[in-house]
Amino acid sequence: MDAEVAVIGIGTIGSMTMWQLARRGVKVIGFEQFGTGHDRSAAGGESRIFRTAYLEGSEYVPMLHESRRQWQELEAETGYSLLNLNGGLMIGDPESETIRNVMKSIELHNLEHEYLDYEEAQKRYPQHKLLPGEVMVLDKQAGFIRPEFAVVSAVQRSEALGAVIHRYTQVESMEQDGDGVRIRANGKEYKVGQVVITTGPWTKKLLPEQGSPLVTRRLVMSFFATTKPDMYTPDKFPIFIRRSKGFDISGKPTLEGTMVKVMLNQGYDVVDDPDNLNRTIALKDLNEISDAVRELLPDLIPDPIRLNAYMDAYSPDEHAIIGRLPDMPRAVVLYGFSGHGFKLAPVMGKIAADLVVDGSTPFSIEPFSPERIRSGR
Ligand SMILES: Cc1cc2nc3c(=O)[nH]c(=O)nc-3n(C[C@H](O)[C@H](O)[C@H](O)COP(=O)(O)OP(=O)(O)OC[C@H]3O[C@@H](n4cnc5c(N)ncnc54)[C@H](O)[C@@H]3O)c2cc1C
Repeated sequence: MDAEVAVIGIGTIGSMTMWQLARRGVKVIGFEQFGTGHDRSAAGGESRIFRTAYLEGSEYVPMLHESRRQWQELEAETGYSLLNLNGGLMIGDPESETIRNVMKSIELHNLEHEYLDYEEAQKRYPQHKLLPGEVMVLDKQAGFIRPEFAVVSAVQRSEALGAVIHRYTQVESMEQDGDGVRIRANGKEYKVGQVVITTGPWTKKLLPEQGSPLVTRRLVMSFFATTKPDMYTPDKFPIFIRRSKGFDISGKPTLEGTMVKVMLNQGYDVVDDPDNLNRTIALKDLNEISDAVRELLPDLIPDPIRLNAYMDAYSPDEHAIIGRLPDMPRAVVLYGFSGHGFKLAPVMGKIAADLVVDGSTPFSIEPFSPERIRSGR
């Protein structure tokens, strides 16, 4: 046996899985087709939002609490700053689904927050042009993570703990074989006890059948200059998610200080082949985001000055697929994070390690089972 466990795909989730396995003393090897910390798929672009008052479902909240603790443990183990909890604003009509779902998470889990009515919100955060009656909910356990650095930090830490990573090594195939799994990568064969598959947008290539329900989408990040840089520093400008006037956008302050990053959370193009992600941004993408900025963020200059394209794998219900593969019980999969998986990465690594080492996890992962997709649940 080359190792007890192999992790395939050392991106967002894979790097955290390596770290979580290595810190439990498991003999683990990893395979990454590019270098570690690359920006050719789902990680990259300086920042990712962390939120706790989750509009996608209150069942995420216990995992998010643990994820925050795990981000902080990774910071403590490496001495690096990865997570900045500068707060998060959810902005919209008080009766909208967004605000109602956020408030549901807050009430069910008693989360630290502030509810700002229209007048108070306008006064506290004039960077946002509100529509009459709109409110803000300030999630105190929200902020942003540094994605490339997070992956690199988890990789470094896992290597310091004894893990081995094969970089620029693409896994071509794998099959269950008696007491383990045989892996073929860059023409060489390896045998391990179990595998964790965290291949993100490439899952369909490695597992054509199991990955077939996934759709890869291209997400564009836009950076805008501001006429008032002092108003957009992390201490004054929390991350935000906003659904107003038909726009669905999110944004963050930038670390370099003169720009604000804004993203459309809708209308993503499908990526047919992750090896050919189109990194050229079409004018039509600029018009929509520029309109959103013009309408909702008046101190930003609505011509984007930096644009980057990334991609993520989406499942049919936009919740990740996590668990053992029914037809390959020595494989644990974690993919299909559907545009919101970064914040969860360390707890996902922990769940993967639980499944591999203990055979089960105390986290409620039944709603994420691979079977739900097959049975159309
Ligand atoms: C622009 C953008 C903004 C986002 N914003 C947020 C946000 O604010 N907050 C948030 O929580 N989430 C956000 N997300 C979502 C989040 O970034 C993703 O859900 C998460 O990064 C997915 O991680 P992953 O490990 O599944 O994929 P990846 O990070 O892409 O990792 C997959 C890895 O597997 C490797 N690989 C694939 N196949 C093979 C193979 N055969 N052999 C070897 N290696 C292989 C790839 O090279 C890659 O490194 C955003 C996503 C994008 C694209």
